[in-house]
Amino acid sequence: MKALADVHVHNFLSSCCRDRTATAENYIKRYAELGVKVLGFANHTWDDRVAGNNEWYHKQNLNFEMQIKSQLPADRLGIKVLIGAETEFCGMTKTLGMSAEGAKELDFLLIPHSHVHMKNFVIPDIPEVLAARKKIKNKLMEALGVSEGKAKEMASRLNQKELEPFFEGERTDYPKYVADFLVQSFEDLMFHPELEKILKVVPVSIAHPFQPCGDGAISEEIISHISDETFHRLFKMAAERKIGLEINPYCNLPHRLNYYKIAIEEGCKFTLGSDTHTIQGAEKIAEAEPALEALGLTEENLMDFIRI
Ligand SMILES: [Zn+2]
Ligand SMILES: [Zn+2]
Repeated sequence: MKALADVHVHNFLSSCCRDRTATAENYIKRYAELGVKVLGFANHTWDDRVAGNNEWYHKQNLNFEMQIKSQLPADRLGIKVLIGAETEFCGMTKTLGMSAEGAKELDFLLIPHSHVHMKNFVIPDIPEVLAARKKIKNKLMEALGVSEGKAKEMASRLNQKELEPFFEGERTDYPKYVADFLVQSFEDLMFHPELEKILKVVPVSIAHPFQPCGDGAISEEIISHISDETFHRLFKMAAERKIGLEINPYCNLPHRLNYYKIAIEEGCKFTLGSDTHTIQGAEKIAEAEPALEALGLTEENLMDFIRI
């Protein structure tokens, strides 16, 4: 099956988009050239009705992101253009960055549960990291005479890899830690009370499900800690709620195809998304096609809103 839709597209209204030519108009032109029929913009968005955003999401609020509606050209070149959003689910606090009221402004909503690169916002740092930072903070205060606030800020800049030499005691099995988090956050999202209301307003799909951002290199090891039985249980919940799962250019790996097969067995529907942040990256949506083939998917397996 050809990938004729891409509903995970970031334009310059997303802070992590570095392509200043990434306007709605240029994307429409590029997707028309590529023969894509359905284009969905899904910029990172936090709805200010929900407390608990971080600095990064502060600017990327719903009002700011909805500017895109006024930036669409009159001529869509025959493409069905949808305005959606990629919001956030902070598993560690069970905070969903979108309300049902806010979702009324959208054609669809993508929710990620796997932005595990956002430490201490989406997922807590492992205990060794927290302990090492505390130790370094104290050393900085002692050695440099800086204030506690300043020392804390300096220590917070060090990442897990940089802090490893300072780890003491028992080590956390990090791949298992992330796996357990992904399972728990997926399940907590399914039972989130606001999600039930959102589903009455817009179609919802899970962005890059079980694809841990920033931990791609150890993704296979992470997934090996999640049993098929667990995937069956979780994807049954998604299917019952009519929540879709995203298929993207990174699905065509044995450990990922395995859980997508389980999702098909449980009756899940799917969306297609490249997660591109550049005009050049739009062509990557075709790289989802081998996974579509391997999984034997047809139009019937896709969520209605991404069909032509
Ligand atoms: Zn994402
Ligand atoms: Zn994205």
